[in-house]
Amino acid sequence: MPASASSMSRLGKVNAPEDSSRLPDASLVRLRPEILATPPYRQGKPAATDAFKLSSNENPFPPLPGVLDAIAASSNVNRYPDAAATALRERLAAQHGVTPNEVHVGSGSVALLAQFIQAAAGPGDEILYTWRSFEAYPGLVTVAGATSVQVPDTAEGRHDLDAMLAAITDRTRAVIVCSPNNPTGPVVTTDEFLRFMAAVPDTVLVLLDEAYAEFVRDESAVNGLALLGRFPNLVILRTFSKAYGLAGLRVGWAIGPEPILDAARATAIPLSVTGVAQAAAIASLDRSDELMARVDVIVERRNAVVSALRAQGWAIPETQSNFVWLATGEQTEAAAATLVEHGIVARPFVGSGIRISIGEAESVDKLLSAAEWIVQHLPSGHAARAIG
Ligand SMILES: *Cc1c(COP(=O)(O)O)cnc(C)c1O
Repeated sequence: MPASASSMSRLGKVNAPEDSSRLPDASLVRLRPEILATPPYRQGKPAATDAFKLSSNENPFPPLPGVLDAIAASSNVNRYPDAAATALRERLAAQHGVTPNEVHVGSGSVALLAQFIQAAAGPGDEILYTWRSFEAYPGLVTVAGATSVQVPDTAEGRHDLDAMLAAITDRTRAVIVCSPNNPTGPVVTTDEFLRFMAAVPDTVLVLLDEAYAEFVRDESAVNGLALLGRFPNLVILRTFSKAYGLAGLRVGWAIGPEPILDAARATAIPLSVTGVAQAAAIASLDRSDELMARVDVIVERRNAVVSALRAQGWAIPETQSNFVWLATGEQTEAAAATLVEHGIVARPFVGSGIRISIGEAESVDKLLSAAEWIVQHLPSGHAARAIG
């Protein structure tokens, strides 16, 4: 494939006819081959106006009025933001009993993941994670020049931490643990995690990605914030994108030992967390009770959806997140098309399954009737248990 053809698939490329460009042919310019071979991040599809967008695990509730007020009050956008996000870090540090330097803020926890991976690993180094897991991980590792080592998750969509331990080599620089796991939903338990941490060498960074922590109701689930101070190599990642409903403003945070956070800070693109995002995050922390009441509503809706799907015959992994996983296997594309016909835009992973976010109350009946149709008409599509 000529370079110009492969570059057509890059993120942000508009669909202009190729021969309409006024720019010279750049196919001789040498770019990193592993980057050219990396597929662009695929965003959850937009939904038609009469459909529900359940493809990106977003929060269906609109922002709280007080949060909108804080956004509107950020009027000095002609100035750069506070690069150190001091007020937000001080706030989070006080809340969790650490120093402000033990908190790091980034433009989404994806940006933080990129920073920690770059801080820990380069060419020849390995980053270990379960698969299937968050679709951003492989690309972030490639961009760092490092190598992904993917350990298959279990038939129930859970981390196989023993297999992950066995896959650690002297090249392993970081292990990512995603709990609840996106896209399958199950948590890692505290017991599993403590046994894992006891066996991981102290030289290996562990990134505990808890983007969906606020949706967890299983008391046996690991909670990174309850383990603060226990491990010299553990960093916890949280985000305002999901439970806090600020996905569009891009703000996430990490908590962990200062030297590791300093290394991540050194890789960061300066000033990428906007003042508006910082103000909205603080206003959201001020209104945690109201926001967590909304999370309760989503959790109840999730539990109702899981029960209804299981009653239809679906083998749903034990989700503790704001999404459910349908292991549709080879029928994934047909099942996703059925969902679209019923007004549901979800996230299909071809050959594997479909992740469906828990969204608006009105989306539930549409989702359940589509799922029932799939059970009736694509019989092998709902019995599949294989994950990943
Ligand atoms: C959504 C998500 C994130 C965070 O996304 P940001 O919007 O960048 O904070 C991180 N990890 C996982 C597993 C996610 O699903």
